[in-house]
Amino acid sequence: MTIEKIALNGYRIGIPIPFPMKFIYCYLYKNTDHYVLIDVGFNYDKAKVAWEEAFKELNIDPKEIKTIYLTHFHPDHSGLSGWMQQLTDADVYMHEIDLHMLERVWGENSTQTKNVEEMNLIHGVPHQLSKDISSHMDLIIDNVLPLPNVKPISGEVEFGNRIWEVIHTPGHSNGHICFYQKDEKLLIAGDHILDKITPNISFWPGASQTPLHDYIDSLHKIRSLQVERALPGHGIVIENVNERISELIHHHEQRLAEMEDLAQGRSAYQIAEDIFAHKELSAHQWRFAIAETIAHLEYLTQENRIKRVNSSPVVYK
Ligand SMILES: [Zn+2]
Ligand SMILES: [Zn+2]
Repeated sequence: MTIEKIALNGYRIGIPIPFPMKFIYCYLYKNTDHYVLIDVGFNYDKAKVAWEEAFKELNIDPKEIKTIYLTHFHPDHSGLSGWMQQLTDADVYMHEIDLHMLERVWGENSTQTKNVEEMNLIHGVPHQLSKDISSHMDLIIDNVLPLPNVKPISGEVEFGNRIWEVIHTPGHSNGHICFYQKDEKLLIAGDHILDKITPNISFWPGASQTPLHDYIDSLHKIRSLQVERALPGHGIVIENVNERISELIHHHEQRLAEMEDLAQGRSAYQIAEDIFAHKELSAHQWRFAIAETIAHLEYLTQENRIKRVNSSPVVYK
């Protein structure tokens, strides 16, 4: 666990996650008589211990947290929010679209694992790998329950004694939001803009059919704000925000060109195999590699640069 003091009397708190990024950074601000927390973490023991240590070190009673905002529904950001809501009695808010995704993916009647499996098989993923991906997805449920009671968010919010604009930045998730403080030119970025890591842009059942178009539009939206500093969900604070946005756009342009060349009557799985051949991927990583490949291939299809042939499996050419 790490705590760093940041502008507007805020704290940047690093909570461990069992993923290669190692930490999720959550942001805690005071607002008159109470605290506001942005993102919470992944529900496993190490994260709960880290929060107990953080509250002790900051000398905060969890009940002083009255509001929790979630940048998006992914388990490394929202997984611990039900637990934190029980601890704090805080109101939890997220964008309406991700509120529905949270319910769709982990709600009682979820069929998402089955839907992802169907998608994978259509795109040529071998049966065994497809089964491994499903088993892995089913395991995550323990790291997100209990689900919080969530209210939808939009417009403006107040914390750190400043007004922040809630900016819808679909792409990494369809209901992803950032918080923008105009006078400070400061952005709480979630997973929309990260340093070094390229945020995963994937095609998922029940989500946007144009995730990469959405993401690039959202990058342009943030670029137009001329943000000076971005506080991301993972990795270091970003000072050269517009430069980083250009790099991210360039990365996707290159990836699109690479896939355009590889799409010669081949399935998304075969193309993903080529792109990620140099890496030894786990089932969890394969899930994202395939969904990211589909997102790029669908982008190229929508731009009429390649064609999708609805054979079995689906191929692109
Ligand atoms: Zn995420
Ligand atoms: Zn994340």
